[in-house]
Amino acid sequence: MFKGILIEKDEAGYRAALTDLDEGRLPEGDVTVRVSHSTLNYKDALAITGKGPVVRTFPMVPGIDLAGTVEHSTHPDYAAGDAVILNGWGVGETHWGGLAQQARLNGNWLVPLPAQFTPQQAMAIGTAGYTAMLCVLALERHGVTPAHGEILVTGAAGGVGSVASAVLTRLGYSVVAVSGRPAETEYLKHLGAVEVLDRATFATPGKPLGRERWAGVVDVVGSHTLANVCATTKYRGVVTACGLAGGMDFPATVAPFILRGVTLVGIDSVICPRPERLEAWRRLGSDLDVAKLDTISQEVGLTDVIPFASKLLNGEVRGRVIVDVNR
Ligand code: NDP
Repeated sequence: MFKGILIEKDEAGYRAALTDLDEGRLPEGDVTVRVSHSTLNYKDALAITGKGPVVRTFPMVPGIDLAGTVEHSTHPDYAAGDAVILNGWGVGETHWGGLAQQARLNGNWLVPLPAQFTPQQAMAIGTAGYTAMLCVLALERHGVTPAHGEILVTGAAGGVGSVASAVLTRLGYSVVAVSGRPAETEYLKHLGAVEVLDRATFATPGKPLGRERWAGVVDVVGSHTLANVCATTKYRGVVTACGLAGGMDFPATVAPFILRGVTLVGIDSVICPRPERLEAWRRLGSDLDVAKLDTISQEVGLTDVIPFASKLLNGEVRGRVIVDVNR
């Protein structure tokens, strides 16, 4: 038996609970992992509360991230004792996930734990941090350098935003953070933001084009915010869109794209090809100041996960949440 969060949906309703699970219930897979840590991402919070259609099959163990040690493997790349991490691939959505003490997975989904990180640090980064790095890689791929000007990071006090701000600063970019939490201004400046703007400035319908300011953008908010940041991006600037914390809609015009040559890049972490994942983790190893991870993250036990999910969706959680699944 092992402990895990289980989400069920039936005539009694949608509910998540910490429960004892039998190993015999683990799904198919060629690698069994003894999980040490998982995380709480925005998507996990939607799954646990039922506020978003994340879970596709029931019953489901949520948790789109995990770190742990291989217990048993028939996959050629992994043997018992290997330290591994996993992000995405539908785990926690269609396949039992990381918010439990055991997981059985397809070995092709696993990534060896990067040597620079402990399992806790890898989970302090988690999908949110790896997605932040995918955004940074996309900015670089499209030619944005620190010399081009300021980079805007929205939802900056959240998970993706915190890691993006720290990495971009370390790489020499000038980061302007957008946040709805004035109380986190000092935190964002500690991560490297040169200026913190009020989220309200971007949240309502704006003009098709505004004053050109951003060389690049990491946007986790979507909706009017994404439309407004596109409208204020400089000629040939690059906007990476990875989130929907403010809404799934995109009420924009084509003006920034056809008059200023702005590039809008979509970022997906879930089925992102393996070479790009490995590159993102390699770059996190070299370009994220691990000392900042302590400020960015807090650790909770498996017993705290369910109340924390609502706090996260209410925007009350700063940075990243590591889950120690053994407490
Ligand atoms: P968090 O909850 O940690 O951070 C989101 C942040 O967005 C909040 O901290 C808050 O920042 C801001 N925010 C929240 N609500 C609103 C709102 N209504 N309007 C404007 N800003 C708001 O989530 P994550 O950082 O983990 O994820 C951010 C987004 O990215 C989510 O939508 C998530 O689903 C998406 N995502 C997508 C991935 C992909 O593969 N494309 C992978 C990972 C995440 P502040 O308080 O500073 O304003």
